[in-house]
Amino acid sequence: MKTKVGYKLGILENDKIICDKYWLRVKYDHENPFIYRCKEIGAEFGLSCSEVTRIVENNAYLTVIDYHCNSCGTAKICYNRAEFISIYSTNWECESCYLKKFHHRLQNSRKERVESALEQRLIEENSYINQLIQFREAQIEAVPRLDEIDIIDHYLLVAVISKLATENFRSTTALCDNLGNTLSPFHDLDVKIINRLMRKNLLLVNIENSYTLLHDYEECLLQFDLSKITFDFAFDPDQLKNLIIDSKRSSSKNKLVNSPKYKIFCEDIQLNDCVNYLAHCSSVNELEIVIGEKIESLLSTCLLRYSVSEVYFMTWKAVKTVPSYSCKFDIDKMLISNFIYNNIQKFHDETRYQLSDSKKHNRDRAHPKSVLNRIFFDEVHGIEDCGFWQNLENLLNYSQI
Ligand SMILES: [Zn+2]
Repeated sequence: MKTKVGYKLGILENDKIICDKYWLRVKYDHENPFIYRCKEIGAEFGLSCSEVTRIVENNAYLTVIDYHCNSCGTAKICYNRAEFISIYSTNWECESCYLKKFHHRLQNSRKERVESALEQRLIEENSYINQLIQFREAQIEAVPRLDEIDIIDHYLLVAVISKLATENFRSTTALCDNLGNTLSPFHDLDVKIINRLMRKNLLLVNIENSYTLLHDYEECLLQFDLSKITFDFAFDPDQLKNLIIDSKRSSSKNKLVNSPKYKIFCEDIQLNDCVNYLAHCSSVNELEIVIGEKIESLLSTCLLRYSVSEVYFMTWKAVKTVPSYSCKFDIDKMLISNFIYNNIQKFHDETRYQLSDSKKHNRDRAHPKSVLNRIFFDEVHGIEDCGFWQNLENLLNYSQI
């Protein structure tokens, strides 16, 4: 191999001699080409082997003239014998070319991956949009006539218009974007109402909004996040105004109250009011609980005899009497829930058997009366917050509609 020793600027004379001796080789001896061993050079100059190597590496380099990078043609440069000996492949690529090619390959593979993922995503989105369009078209075909709407749905639609309609009276805002009083007493019931009106084709999915929301999801399945999506009303603004006016008429109110579903729906509103209050009380007291069917069924039993305000009082007392160590010692939420359940049961029985007075609790300021309460109770019976202050059975029996 043809080689040439190069020196760094300002090299000392002594160091130059060391470098020359270090790199001095016998031609054609590939096994053992170096004339002086490091130890020999070191002995001559009073240095250790590693000091010799360090002086050489810092002051000189060996250019291998006939050994080139196969990409850019730069000659190989060695700084020590180990590098020189390790030259064996005829197909050498310098570090700079290797890195450039590596980055190029990396960029290409990334670009391909991004392109194929994007293509796949677009295919999925297109199929989603098609499903949405089909869903909306099927809805439009099945919109009922105004005079065919179920009486409960009629009033629910009025509540949705009252709470969620946009200024132009053509579409809704999303449940999650609303401040102040809520549509119903509890978010689960809000979602249930929206779902019901969508299934009855009174609220039509808004394709553009659903498509925008799609970017929040991993999968493009036709699924609706009912608290986030917006809808278009199936009727025009004049028809909606008529629905509202009609809901104020005695004939409509009579029809509503006489519908067997009215009582069931009112029970649901009241139960949701109580569930919401229990959740609120627990979180204020930093208690984690599970509100399942067992507690719901107990609250429903309480509501058979007592008003929501009285059940609020029982709930408040039940949560208050949970021992204060419960939240400190991370006690299982099932145990706390059972404790509250037993307390509500106890306070209910005490009131029922007249061991203690039935007391009423005010509405919590954090949870004002919902729109549904106003429309299904206040406006129908003409009594302020009667769904809260009065027991449903009494309210319906003595109703003056
Ligand atoms: Zn190169």
